[in-house]
Amino acid sequence: MQFIDLKRQYAYLKKEIDGAVAEVLTRGDFIGGIEVKELSDELARYCGVKHCLTVANGTDALTLALRTLGVQSGDAVFLPSFTFFATAEAVALQGAVPVFVDADERTFNISPERLEEAVVRTKKEGRAAKGIITVDLFGLPADYSEIRKIADSHGLWIIEDGAQGFGGKIGDKRACSFGDISTTSFFPAKPLGCYGDGGAVFTDNDGYSELLKSLAVHGKGSFKYDNVRIGYNSRLDTLQAAVLKVKLKAFINEELNSRNEIAARYTAALSDKFVTPIIPDGFYSSWAQYTLILESAEQRGQIQAALKEKGIPSMIYYPIPMHRQTAFKDCKANFDELRVSDNLSQRVLSLPMHPYLERNEQDLIIDCLLKGV
Ligand SMILES: *Cc1c(COP(=O)(O)O)cnc(C)c1O
Repeated sequence: MQFIDLKRQYAYLKKEIDGAVAEVLTRGDFIGGIEVKELSDELARYCGVKHCLTVANGTDALTLALRTLGVQSGDAVFLPSFTFFATAEAVALQGAVPVFVDADERTFNISPERLEEAVVRTKKEGRAAKGIITVDLFGLPADYSEIRKIADSHGLWIIEDGAQGFGGKIGDKRACSFGDISTTSFFPAKPLGCYGDGGAVFTDNDGYSELLKSLAVHGKGSFKYDNVRIGYNSRLDTLQAAVLKVKLKAFINEELNSRNEIAARYTAALSDKFVTPIIPDGFYSSWAQYTLILESAEQRGQIQAALKEKGIPSMIYYPIPMHRQTAFKDCKANFDELRVSDNLSQRVLSLPMHPYLERNEQDLIIDCLLKGV
């Protein structure tokens, strides 16, 4: 059994994907091309955002967003400690200082209460508080109504790191529309993945959109060889866009639904015995991961071993929160304020989750979990 079965997805979509790839190869457009334009338009429309720029990966998308918002050396940027490294790395790459905020213990996302406290304290210390990067962890959008209030009251911008959140919703509003700038990743294992690296940046702001486009192409001005700022080379290539156009259709028409059906089945079967993920009222997850909170690291080890014995893969996302990463040892995080992140990192376990996980496989996983404890 695969944790995320990309081969099965390919078998299912093979005819369309092969056709789309052959079309690009035959035409000989490898950079830019109609597929990139069409895909960005489709992504913008799907997310309900005015502008979408496809880029090389989700980490670049964050870097471009930070540059566009004018982050400078020494600026404080608030972000969850319980996330993937890239969220914080992009901040540090700009010379800014990541301020790690604890998680909500049931949604895994950044806690609005802890965020407010961190902003107030940082300002009191006389540091330049500039913005917040939220993460839609495991596919669930962060608590944007609360976070937006905090951002507005302190004059901060929001970057939504939707690398795992693409496809999620709050009410009718889609993930990747909640930030002043929002980002996503098309890394193969993300909810919407390509066959290599890819990412996108979203914004409603015309000025930001222009700046993002310039920064992504070597800081171009009126044309490619007029360079008005130092930028990057960050683009999604034509083959990946062609693949993504096919996958986006399947994602919208079937996959997102299947993910939610599988998650509902897991929860119905497991919630008596385990702490299963909760989706607050009005929220919709894209289920990048289905994550249990176990009693202890010890119990987690036993369950992981029992699953493995039956050929069932499971993963720990994430074993080390950002405030404990060696790379961030100079950030002077207050470990006492990050206890939920520490606790989660000891207890979480993610189960196989992908739209092509068959019923008998789901049953095997559920059986093994119920018998294993
Ligand atoms: C995957 C991921 C990224 C980085 O995306 P890449 O395309 O791998 O660069 C950033 N943030 C989060 C939360 C992620 O899960």
